[in-house]
Amino acid sequence: MQIEKLKKILIENGEPKFRLSQIKKAIYQDGVSAFSEISTISKNLRELLEKEVEILSFEVEKVLASKDGLSLKALFKLVDGSRIESVLLSPIENKWSVCISSQVGCQLNCGFCATGKNGFQRNLTAEEISDQVLFWRQHLQKNFKFKISNLKLTNVVYMGMGEPFLNWDEVRKSLKDLTDKDLFAFGSRSISVSTAGIPDGIQKLAEEFPQINLAISLHFASDVKRNQFMPINKKYNLEELKMALRDYFSKTKRQVFIEYLMLSGINDSEEDAYALSTYLKSIGNRQLLHVNLIAYNETGNSFKASSGNKTHLFKNYLENGGLSVTIRKSLGQEVSGACGQLAGK
Ligand code: SF4
Repeated sequence: MQIEKLKKILIENGEPKFRLSQIKKAIYQDGVSAFSEISTISKNLRELLEKEVEILSFEVEKVLASKDGLSLKALFKLVDGSRIESVLLSPIENKWSVCISSQVGCQLNCGFCATGKNGFQRNLTAEEISDQVLFWRQHLQKNFKFKISNLKLTNVVYMGMGEPFLNWDEVRKSLKDLTDKDLFAFGSRSISVSTAGIPDGIQKLAEEFPQINLAISLHFASDVKRNQFMPINKKYNLEELKMALRDYFSKTKRQVFIEYLMLSGINDSEEDAYALSTYLKSIGNRQLLHVNLIAYNETGNSFKASSGNKTHLFKNYLENGGLSVTIRKSLGQEVSGACGQLAGK
């Protein structure tokens, strides 16, 4: 929301100081989607704000929902005409997680990813990033008719379009807004930032937001394969990533989530499980690593999802090596909102 503009209008109109807090609470915490719905302010002020201040920094072009209503995807049109996507999922009853984008497109061009295929257009502003969460709060309030609180919209994950650490200045501002008690009021531990492995970004997160969760989109545990499918590895290889993670552990003592897409015939063999197990153990602090094995959602390229059996064998192998592992249920496939499927369409 255009907070600075809102503040200016309130001052110019001689409104008392508490008015700003009243409006922020209504918008950010109660999920109100129009000033006209805020009954605690005067009719004149409501009309003025409706005319002068935009609550969302983008237009909502479409919202798709899966048949069970538990996976939703929204397409937003930004002021320059570019488009981004954001996803709302309910993995547990009455709890919702928002997956947000940090860039329009992505320059990292991972071989299996629909976002990377469309190239990079620009960084999102902090407002465009946090407004995605604001939109979903409004949507839940309007469509589910229950009181929204952080107990309902429980988690925010920076795992949509883009690499968050390549837009750190704006991502940092958005993290401050999401954890600001007068704005979104999320607890830091309810937020996760996912990276393809940018060491200086990992360091900044550890120093500036040590309570925010870190997820690494690893997917391959050998430099040969990672170079082939994740070009960022040519710049920051697995050894550099290992050093960054050791430094992260020494600063935060926090758990790190290792995301591993299961790609049939590409990274799901016993040899791959051995490589992953060996690599993760070589980092140290094994008890602070948790591996998520993610079912791949096919997007029409040559990559195929691993079978359930193969994924279970892979999990067993890692667990026998003393690692903590979860197979992540794939949500969002029906609305093309699952991992690697966000393409701004
Ligand atoms: S997987 Fe993530 S880092 Fe890789 S191209 Fe897609 S959005 Fe970018």
